[in-house]
Amino acid sequence: MRRVVFASGKGGTGKTTFTAITARLAAEDGPLVLADCDVEAANLPIALRATVTGSEPFAGGSKAVIDADACRGCGACQPVCRFEAIAADEDFWRTRAFVIDPWACEGCGACVPACPYDAITMEQSRAGEVHTAETVIGPMAFGQLVAGEDLSGKLVTEVRTRADAIGVEHGIDRMWIDGPPGVGCPAIAALTGTDLVMAVTEPTLSGEHDLMRLVTLARRFDLPVAVVLNKADLSASGARRIRERMAAEGLDLVAEVPFDAELAALPERLARGEEFAFPDTPGMDGVRATAAWLAERMGAGS
Ligand code: SF4
Ligand code: SF4
Repeated sequence: MRRVVFASGKGGTGKTTFTAITARLAAEDGPLVLADCDVEAANLPIALRATVTGSEPFAGGSKAVIDADACRGCGACQPVCRFEAIAADEDFWRTRAFVIDPWACEGCGACVPACPYDAITMEQSRAGEVHTAETVIGPMAFGQLVAGEDLSGKLVTEVRTRADAIGVEHGIDRMWIDGPPGVGCPAIAALTGTDLVMAVTEPTLSGEHDLMRLVTLARRFDLPVAVVLNKADLSASGARRIRERMAAEGLDLVAEVPFDAELAALPERLARGEEFAFPDTPGMDGVRATAAWLAERMGAGS
């Protein structure tokens, strides 16, 4: 399996647009598997009209729960909790029970033996879901993290595992991955075991800064990085700086893509299921150049 991950170090650079459209162009040469590793805001399933074919829960950590019927309201559990997650019920004078704030509970389990009435148990929480789906291009895996959960790196790993399984099941040996923003645990999980990082950046100081953080991360894993400069015409000085930095770092600058309203609208049109030909615009030329560059490195697929 050859895997390319589209990443940006930050959100809003057009990463999902490049993933979706280059995947669509690559699918003309052979099958590929898709994985959306942005488990906090998975947009690739929307852009490629994913139809979910299977879902499995993704388990989070354990949380303590008080059985209100068994609780006698003695309060013995409250001082045991270092995280101040236990308090008397707001309606204590009626219920005579204590309650646990699931957002504050760290799942240490210290309160369980502190209860003389065995009213506290540990329950496993549901932190999200892993989905498999069919899209207009090919099969996909993606995840959805429950708001407030912090296990996005582990969920990304689950998505990657599921995408690998899809590849084996369908005999497909290419994978397009839409990575998460940032350079934290989710990004590490998305980059691990890939063959190429396709960094999508823009000609701003923050774009350059976030790009270099991504490059530093990729180098820790010995991963080659290629760069697409999106919205390249928005700042001549910014674009020049990115060019110079890429040359100094020995990185491939695959394409410079000018801002293109038609290109920006393509994911929306794909999501609506419109039949259309890709426009002949400067922006689309840049995406085609990126797809052609990728075709040389990723092959035609089988
Ligand atoms: S499991 Fe630990 S963190 Fe959660 S309520 Fe009990 S003592 Fe507090
Ligand atoms: S120790 Fe047990 S009975 Fe006492 S307040 Fe806590 S949960 Fe209720």
